[in-house]
Amino acid sequence: MKTLRPIKDLSRGELAQWLQERGEPSYRLDQLEGWLYRHDVASFHDMTNLPKTFREVLLGEFCLFSLEEVAREEALDGTTKFLFSTLDGERVEAVLIPDRDRLTLCVSTQVGCRMGCRFCLTGRQGFRRNLTRGEMLDQVLLVRREVRDQGRELTNVVFMGMGEPLDNYEESLAALRVLISDKGLGFSHRKVTLSTVGLVPQVRRLAREGLDLTLALSLNATDDETRSLLMPINRRYSLEEVVAALRGYPLPPRKRFTLEYVVLEGVNHSPQDARRLARLVEGLRVKVNLIPFNPFPGAEFERPSEREVLEFQAQLRQLGLSTFIRQSRGQEISAACGLLRWRRGA
Ligand code: SAH
Ligand code: SF4
Repeated sequence: MKTLRPIKDLSRGELAQWLQERGEPSYRLDQLEGWLYRHDVASFHDMTNLPKTFREVLLGEFCLFSLEEVAREEALDGTTKFLFSTLDGERVEAVLIPDRDRLTLCVSTQVGCRMGCRFCLTGRQGFRRNLTRGEMLDQVLLVRREVRDQGRELTNVVFMGMGEPLDNYEESLAALRVLISDKGLGFSHRKVTLSTVGLVPQVRRLAREGLDLTLALSLNATDDETRSLLMPINRRYSLEEVVAALRGYPLPPRKRFTLEYVVLEGVNHSPQDARRLARLVEGLRVKVNLIPFNPFPGAEFERPSEREVLEFQAQLRQLGLSTFIRQSRGQEISAACGLLRWRRGA
């Protein structure tokens, strides 16, 4: 049997060319993209303003979705973890996080991750493969459909699930462009965040893309020795280089970078860390998100007490840094930061 190509894996240009080769009128591209990204249809059959014969051509050539939901778990706080299967049987997770008037979806960009951060379960499990643009978009589209069925709307998308988005640069960027395009899902730039471990060449490249997304950097330590211990990538790109890449990034007026900082008991939250952090990012517009470490079996770190995290926050605030504590969401269903995993039954 012919394997059908997931249609959202095609770029706009490829889709346009495919349509042209079939002699379709030029307005067909917009029509088709409307169905793919803005309306929630479950099948090519439902694309009612396309000629029936053309819908049949689509059916013979493409599949509409590259993911299938296989499980869903909802935590007491409303956080919902969606487990999807890819066409080749890999497992991918996306997490829906309700917070006051916001409804944020945390999207995965790879199956596993190559970066090997020691405090991250995804990193500890190793790498399987990159996700395609269609697989990233389908996480958003399939969850959006559920959310819309409940009369709500997704407000934010964060590329902060499994994987390092800038280690899968082309596909992540392609998916982000569709997310924020009017011809795509139409999210505002401000509502889309990419979180990176700080791959310097890719951050510099991203700076030239002219996409004013929110950029989050996982800082996690304030000296190279500690950061290299926690995040092997720091041996390649030092703190200084990573921060220099941020300084070279064209931050739109009134926007700030997000610095994510996993607080590990006794490792990275001393008064000296607070001072070093402030010095490191002096003059940069940033907001700091402290994430108390989410433990997992076999982890070599511990979660700090609430008092310790509050103290670190107070020290950073005193140094003029706006600092927030990210409450762990959905912990009992392992939906919290760093607890996503691809292993079946793990
Ligand atoms: N690879 C990207 C995005 C995915 S990780 C990155 O590292 O930025 C998303 C966030 O989860 C990162 O800020 C990371 O530091 C944090 N994280 C990973 N493991 C964690 C854990 N066990 N507890 C708390 N936060 C964790
Ligand atoms: Fe990968 Fe991010 Fe986890 Fe590090 S923290 S291993 S970069 S997913």
